[in-house]
Amino acid sequence: MRKIIILGATGSVGNSALELIQANPEKFQIVGASSHHHFTELQSIAKDFSIPHLLNTNEKHYFPDFLDQCQPDIVLNAISGFAGLPYSIQILESGTPLALANKESLVAGGELLMALSRTKKTSIYPVDSEHSAIWQCLQNHDPGIRDLKSRDQKHPFKKILLTCSGGPFRERKDFSTVTKSEALTHPTWSMGGKITIDSATLANKCLEVFEAMHLFGASKDQIEIIIHPQSIVHSMVQFSDSSIIAQISPPNMKLPIAYALNYPNCDDYKLEEVDFSNLTLNFSNPDKKKFRTLQMLDICIREMQNFPIVFNAANEIAVSAFLEGKISFVQIFDVLEKIIDETKKETIETFEQIQRIDAQTRTKTQSLLP
Ligand code: NDP
Ligand code: MG
Repeated sequence: MRKIIILGATGSVGNSALELIQANPEKFQIVGASSHHHFTELQSIAKDFSIPHLLNTNEKHYFPDFLDQCQPDIVLNAISGFAGLPYSIQILESGTPLALANKESLVAGGELLMALSRTKKTSIYPVDSEHSAIWQCLQNHDPGIRDLKSRDQKHPFKKILLTCSGGPFRERKDFSTVTKSEALTHPTWSMGGKITIDSATLANKCLEVFEAMHLFGASKDQIEIIIHPQSIVHSMVQFSDSSIIAQISPPNMKLPIAYALNYPNCDDYKLEEVDFSNLTLNFSNPDKKKFRTLQMLDICIREMQNFPIVFNAANEIAVSAFLEGKISFVQIFDVLEKIIDETKKETIETFEQIQRIDAQTRTKTQSLLP
């Protein structure tokens, strides 16, 4: 039985983890869980799952003490946004394996986290479905990639084919009339508000490219975004002989969560299966003219260093402003474009520097809002 902590237990990924554990109680024991604004909800979850240690991250706390009390085998970081990064760092520093849903941790602090994972010999297991898929596809090809910590710079893959549903506006020509409720209605996934908007602008896919570059040591030319509306193929890897391996499962976070939490065991989970009786799979290239986030991605992956941190921070502020009704959907792209346009390259060396750049970008982005 794995002893786990769920950070962000009151969120969408947190909820999928709880459902997985409820259906497979003999495999996992939750020894600790956190919430931010919904502590009463967390207390009720704690009752249902007999969770001994709770953390309210919205109050003053010292996270290493919480880790110490819980003594977990692995921590699932399902916090949303940049706020998840300090926790990822402290988890790795404690030598505890990290099941990482919080992609912003890698986007903003990828170099530092991967270095920490190597020096501490502590694994980062991806939970984001595409990265879990890539990791699964790589399993039989590179033993070094299994734990994502001992890999060298030579990779057996030619290319990562990162799939993308295209979101609710894949077919839409005019973005000027997009409403909040339309943007919050994802065609294939049920997720938290921020990531659902990111899926509508394709900013989520941009974050996932940075995430994949760090996790798998891929260069910018080794990642290709492919639109796949059904969200059944969660990503693919092409090898040096041109063969391609794909990972296929229903659009549901339970499998990637289970895969990370219980790695390397592949257990008999009670999970939904793909129905092939009437299944069509489509693939196409993304439209960069329409989804301007992809043009900004090109600039960011050319520069890297502070650019992904800036992209992430500006995007978090712009998405919050959209959700609060302060700016339109199109203005998310405009704000991001202005911020990226005015960014000067800076080499990243420390966590404090990342925090400073994140904070400065937030202030600057706020100043552009009405
Ligand atoms: P949600 O918004 O549904 O949940 C976020 C969780 O984080 C909540 O438990 C919330 O607590 C907590 N939280 C919010 N702000 C803070 C903060 N400042 N400090 C500490 N905890 C905080 O998000 P999702 O579950 O959708 O996403 C979580 C992460 O997983 C994101 O990084 C997302 O990109 C990634 N992800 C999500 C997927 C999905 O299917 N949803 C798929 C792949 C990746 P409270 O509710 O109590 O305020
Ligand atoms: Mg994803």
